[in-house]
Amino acid sequence: MNNEIYLDANATCATLPVAVEAAVDVMAERFGNPSSSHATGIRAKRVLDEARACARRVIGAGGGRLMFTSGATEGIQTAVVSALAQVRERQLAGQPCGTLLVYGATDHKAVPESLAHWNRLLGTKLELACLPVDGKGRHRLDVLRALAPEAALVCTMAANNETGVVSDLAGIEAVMREEGREALWMVDCVQALGKLPLALADTRIDYAPFSGHKLSAPKGIGMLYVREGAPFTPLIAGGGQEGAQRSGTENMAGIAAFGAVLKALEQGGVFRSHGELAAYRERIVLALREAFPGIVFNAPFDLALPTTINFSVPGLASREVLDLFDATGVRVSAGSACSASKAQPSYVLQAMQLPAWRATSAVRLSFGPQVDAAFIDAACQRIVRCGAALRADPLALSGQARGAGVLQMSCEGRAGWLVFEQREELCVAIDPPAALAARIAALARSHGYAVRAVLTTEDDAQARAGCDALCSALAESGVLFEAGWPRQGASVRLGDASVVPAIRIGDQWLARVAQGEDAFYLLGAANGPDLPASDVRFAFIGGAQAPGCAEGVPLARMRGATERLASLVNADTALCRSVESDTPPWSTPAALAHGGGVLGSLLAVQPLLCRPALAGVANVLQVEQQSLERFLATHPDAVLVDVREPAEHAAGPATLHGRAALNVPMSRLAEQAGRWLRDESRPLVFVCRSGNRSARAALQLQRIGYAQAWHLSGGMALAT
Ligand code: PLP
Repeated sequence: MNNEIYLDANATCATLPVAVEAAVDVMAERFGNPSSSHATGIRAKRVLDEARACARRVIGAGGGRLMFTSGATEGIQTAVVSALAQVRERQLAGQPCGTLLVYGATDHKAVPESLAHWNRLLGTKLELACLPVDGKGRHRLDVLRALAPEAALVCTMAANNETGVVSDLAGIEAVMREEGREALWMVDCVQALGKLPLALADTRIDYAPFSGHKLSAPKGIGMLYVREGAPFTPLIAGGGQEGAQRSGTENMAGIAAFGAVLKALEQGGVFRSHGELAAYRERIVLALREAFPGIVFNAPFDLALPTTINFSVPGLASREVLDLFDATGVRVSAGSACSASKAQPSYVLQAMQLPAWRATSAVRLSFGPQVDAAFIDAACQRIVRCGAALRADPLALSGQARGAGVLQMSCEGRAGWLVFEQREELCVAIDPPAALAARIAALARSHGYAVRAVLTTEDDAQARAGCDALCSALAESGVLFEAGWPRQGASVRLGDASVVPAIRIGDQWLARVAQGEDAFYLLGAANGPDLPASDVRFAFIGGAQAPGCAEGVPLARMRGATERLASLVNADTALCRSVESDTPPWSTPAALAHGGGVLGSLLAVQPLLCRPALAGVANVLQVEQQSLERFLATHPDAVLVDVREPAEHAAGPATLHGRAALNVPMSRLAEQAGRWLRDESRPLVFVCRSGNRSARAALQLQRIGYAQAWHLSGGMALAT
């Protein structure tokens, strides 16, 4: 892990060495139960008391309660239960208690989820009201002013975990103090600890949950401050630990470690000042601007924690930036760690009403306040390297000369195809998804390509929208293009002796086979005026002919198209569809004939398609991490294939056990599959970052009949 630059501190961070020592000490030496009355217990109690006393001083707890919890989520539950228990009592006594539970629109999900949960469970029947934020991420005080008189509890946060935006707590407090305001107030202080000065007892805040692991203590330890006199109900009852405020034998390792972190915070010297951190941020921002010239920052620096930078790069989805960073050993995230696996737009940025593209492409970079200048320098160097990798030619394939290629472009269930010829600097777009128009135009412009045709296979609204979007984007980018089938072209004779229009793309023919209003396109070697079935490497067939996609398409129309198609291709032709559902958007006739489905059964009757495909591939073949070295030694002819994007590969090429990987991204798999099928005996071992993409690649190759397609389980993340 030495090579790793960890910039995801808002998710969690490494434990400080003094905290590790403190934890080990209470596990090995002062291991007693602080409730025991003997000397071993008393020594443990001392650790507990010292940690609590230090915590009280650090957050300025005054006469308030301070209890250790398992983390902020538990602290939030305790605060919510305490407030709602009071509401319930008042409701039963017929006293006024407010009707609203107000929470900030950018609050951590733990807050609204807990409010809804306990409100339902306790039967308090209050209404949840979301307090909006402005474009800078600050709470709308005018709305709070309107909601507060009816509020039983108001929840806000001190600083946001995704954007670092620091709340105007003084402004909120002023509203909360206005006459007639009785509401209780919880402030989630998780991201504030160690980064903002705290003097809680001097404020009107009733509850403040904290989490240890956001400031270099271990996970599973946190604390809750409760203002003196604020209603309190224990969430966990039992043996009466923590003054009966939170029962259960204390997590002494966590408490000792958290105590050590708080002591370091109090004594100074470990955590940097605001000024130092702001200077670090400035350096990172400079590096980011150099790496990604079009970058936009999603929160104003003057209102945000200096340790959090949230940004979007036009034309790059969060996932792509994350993968790129990951390839250079830089760990960042797309938003909160809790939603990282869901790949959804950031609700925090949506609440700030930022344009949709910024919410879907947001990246959060965060560092802990204990970092030093050397770390920041190393981070900046890596970030700049990411930018350089991004400029790697996305159409280059390692180990291959410049030439013709086919790139798959998928987005939101649509799949488009770009046929290109590098030497002649031209390309043809088939079924371009509208959402990718800007990106295709940028690609064509950066490569100086002319777009000879923008084509659809089916005459439907979605296909037309994709073509229109691409044509506008090309026009805007100043790229030379022709919409539809080119006016000037040639013709070729196909396998069934029919003569159809065709265009030359380098040393290949692209032929158009019209089927009523629809068409399919065949791509293959241009050997004179013929394009026999044996030479057809690709057929772009749209969505209607896809297995499982027959709904709404008259079978007769499909049958005609499919029978014609089957007579014009060979068993290994890549059949490229315009839809991507659970199955990948391309296959081969041989695989489909075996796999069944409408198209499959039609293709199966064609005598031409006799290549045996693997029957029912159920499980992907995988090489376990610990067996990879042996696998490579026993298969000297095995080829490692890195299916990450070219920029990721350029940022951190894959070499495993001394063997360098070829880079064939997922978007070029259809193109390469034909080549591999011709030499089926060599084992292919697909690799990627986490093992997801490589599993899909191996499965896809197996499906089309490649018996020796493996993938490295767990990916390179576990190999390094
Ligand atoms: N609140 C905020 C602002 C957070 O960032 C987090 C952690 O992601 C939590 C609450 C939950 O903290 P814990 O993991 O300690 O339960």
